[in-house]
Amino acid sequence: MIRIAIQAKGRLSEDSLSLLREAGIDVDDSKRQFLLRSSSHPAEILFLRDDDIPQAVALGVADIGIVGYNEVLEKGEDVEIIDKLGFGSCRVSLAVPKGEHYAGLEYFNGKRIATSYPNILSKFLKEKNIDAKISVIEGSVEIAPAVGMSDAIFDIVSSGGTLVSNGLKEVEKVVFSQAVLIKGKNVSKDKLSALEQIKFRLNAVRDSKGLKYLLMNIPNSQIEEAIKIVPAMRSPTILPLAQEGWSSLHSVVKENVLWEKIEQLKQVGAEGILVLSVEKMVL
Ligand code: ATP
Ligand code: ZN
Repeated sequence: MIRIAIQAKGRLSEDSLSLLREAGIDVDDSKRQFLLRSSSHPAEILFLRDDDIPQAVALGVADIGIVGYNEVLEKGEDVEIIDKLGFGSCRVSLAVPKGEHYAGLEYFNGKRIATSYPNILSKFLKEKNIDAKISVIEGSVEIAPAVGMSDAIFDIVSSGGTLVSNGLKEVEKVVFSQAVLIKGKNVSKDKLSALEQIKFRLNAVRDSKGLKYLLMNIPNSQIEEAIKIVPAMRSPTILPLAQEGWSSLHSVVKENVLWEKIEQLKQVGAEGILVLSVEKMVL
């Protein structure tokens, strides 16, 4: 039985649960217990604070875990990152009061910086030869400068809205983070194939995000032009239509380029274009 640690309550919980669910690992989380057996797969889900997930995986309390890369880096536990999961994107940045003149990292010499990420920050400052003081704050780091606890902060930023509303500006992006799948170094051999299976499924779900399946009718003479527009994974599928001289072309495109591809396809003579969602993609 594989045990998977995820965040109990917070920014990564829902996406972690739905990723597992889409990968066929269902749990009834309405029960709100800290350990739940999946009803659909031989796996257990362990619900923890995100801070504790790297250690739980390093100790073998859980075999794998889903947690922010920022936490993995901060905790420095002996775990292996086996996949990036494509959600929970953020960065860990240095920010200063917006009225300050900022010309470069030397700004921080002699300054006090509040953070919940002291390990990442001290390593970064050391590498850059900056001599600053670090105040460790667990709660709302972004208010520290306003209340006089620090001159600057080192904290998580996603949209930047929180910084702006606290009169701060982001001046250095130090770490780019997203949710990652981690594994302990000493997972027993008999669990490895079960782990591979889970990893494979999570990949398939992740890779299908933002993909659309396209079907269209196209005159045979235009097939080559259309293939250049939507090349698909290997090559598109072409099926003959009952009407002489026409084919049906099937392909997969990324959602962010969908509309421009449709315009281009219309220009080369595609008709009756159907767009479908892709639920899973196995590469
Ligand atoms: P816990 O109670 O589990 O300790 P937390 O308060 O430490 O929760 P959350 O705020 O739920 O953590 O954030 C969890 C993770 O979500 C972060 O470590 C980070 O990887 C990611 N994340 C993405 N965007 C943001 C954001 N705007 N603010 C904070 N975290 C974010
Ligand atoms: Zn936390």
